[in-house]
Amino acid sequence: MPRKLVLFDIDGTLLNVGPVNRRVIQDALLEVYGTEGTAATHSFAGRMDNVIIHEVLEDTGLTRTEIEAKFERAKQTYIDLFRKRATKDDITLTLGIHTLLERLQAHSGIIVGLLTGNFEASGRHKLQIPGINHFFPFGAFADDARHRNDLPAVAVEKAWRITGKRFTGQDVVVIGDTEHDISCARAHNARSVAVATGTYSLDRLKGHRPDVLLENLNEPDVVIREILRSPTT
Ligand SMILES: [Mg+2]
Repeated sequence: MPRKLVLFDIDGTLLNVGPVNRRVIQDALLEVYGTEGTAATHSFAGRMDNVIIHEVLEDTGLTRTEIEAKFERAKQTYIDLFRKRATKDDITLTLGIHTLLERLQAHSGIIVGLLTGNFEASGRHKLQIPGINHFFPFGAFADDARHRNDLPAVAVEKAWRITGKRFTGQDVVVIGDTEHDISCARAHNARSVAVATGTYSLDRLKGHRPDVLLENLNEPDVVIREILRSPTT
């Protein structure tokens, strides 16, 4: 029976996606709403795709009701365009991630899932292209909740269905590259591992007081030691 549930963010943590992602959001919004809002400049890091769509359109004066009316179409258009356009040239795995995932998969004390602001269909596609999707039997996605802080409970529930174990507190480890990952871990009394492989520097992450701060995930022994560490040991 695994002791620890480890939840990985996708963008900036497992991999980085080139400009195609922003371009596809802009084009999907243009097609469905007739405007891309502030999608060209809005900060996407650590934010959920559903929230991004709302924020960039509200910035241009569309009402919540107007956005909601076409939201499902916009979401599907984004997913379809992303699947059509994103190629392996657009996606770079972060340093050492494949080796780490193999080590975690082989570890009987650890179960791995996703906790991400991506919609599941586009997020899974980002993982399929570089061949790491199979490491993640379940996950919590933008389809599952309106706020990132609600995602850990969703992931815990899905892990329970697979393992029969309900992970709580520091037995849940959230690994991500922004303060949003840190704060959603804190909201659930989970352990946060912040990693500077996305858009945030080590210094910027440090200010948000993660439980563990790493430059990258390239040393599997270090990462696994931190995952297994309990606050009392
Ligand atoms: Mg991220």
